[in-house]
Amino acid sequence: MDRRAFLGGLATVVAASPTVAQPIWSSPVIDMHFHMRRAPELNLAHLQGAGVTAANLLTFGNAAGPVRDLQTASPGRFPCWFGSTDITKPGAERLLTEAAKAGAKGFGELKFPVAADGPEMRRVYALAAELDVPVLIHFQEIGQAAAAGGYNTGIKRFAAILKAFPKTKFIGHADAFWANISADYAEQESYPAGPVKPGGITDKLLADYPNLYGDLAANSGNNALSRDPGFTGDFLKRHQDKLHFGSDCNCDDGMGGGAAQNSPAVAPRMRGKCVARETLTVLTASTTPEIFRKVAWTNAQRVVGLSL
Ligand SMILES: [Zn+2]
Ligand SMILES: [Zn+2]
Repeated sequence: MDRRAFLGGLATVVAASPTVAQPIWSSPVIDMHFHMRRAPELNLAHLQGAGVTAANLLTFGNAAGPVRDLQTASPGRFPCWFGSTDITKPGAERLLTEAAKAGAKGFGELKFPVAADGPEMRRVYALAAELDVPVLIHFQEIGQAAAAGGYNTGIKRFAAILKAFPKTKFIGHADAFWANISADYAEQESYPAGPVKPGGITDKLLADYPNLYGDLAANSGNNALSRDPGFTGDFLKRHQDKLHFGSDCNCDDGMGGGAAQNSPAVAPRMRGKCVARETLTVLTASTTPEIFRKVAWTNAQRVVGLSL
């Protein structure tokens, strides 16, 4: 084979190989908050565009088949998935159990109009402990353009749940979870800006309960990391073993493109941007490469029992 033919062949191999990640970030990255997309090819497109190594697929309903197809098509890129179902409907526990038996490494995301300490969620917490999988919870108190009303309300009462279910691994996410890093938060808005007042509920719960973890996905996680750089570095240091990266991004290409990420339903500060890129950028600027690696790569694997 002459040199040109060899290089041509090599280029083809590199272009066709789904396992070559772009070295944009200082460590490999797993996106733990990645909603599986309807068009199979859009899943890999987002990872490649944002320089993300792997993703945990958040699914709904009976998803074991489509997950397996994606895993087969892109080896190594989708190493785990979470199962979810409407937990207000009868049969939810059976469906969640089936998902775990089919290989789901967690439940979530759970985003339903119930109280986080109500009977529906308590049943899920007990099941998660029994099956030894974490529960990813969307905490929201204030209605928004993309999601009216409240979901898993009552984060301010959540210490009692963390105490009552010590064997359940809880992963907190969304605006009420992240706005409550500040002690002065009183549900006045979804994404408060400006300095953080130390002593917030989320900060305290992460410090006090070994069974609570934080998912930095979405505008809410990005906003929490961006609003007060003086606070962020210490916060990441304090909880360096309990936080993990996620995007919850709606863009098509890992660059902020596509209609969904450019719609009025997206918070103005994130519109037209890739949440994965934005959050990995603020993490890079806010902490050391050692802590970045924990948050972007190793912590989440420990929570779900993976070793990549
Ligand atoms: Zn959510
Ligand atoms: Zn994106």
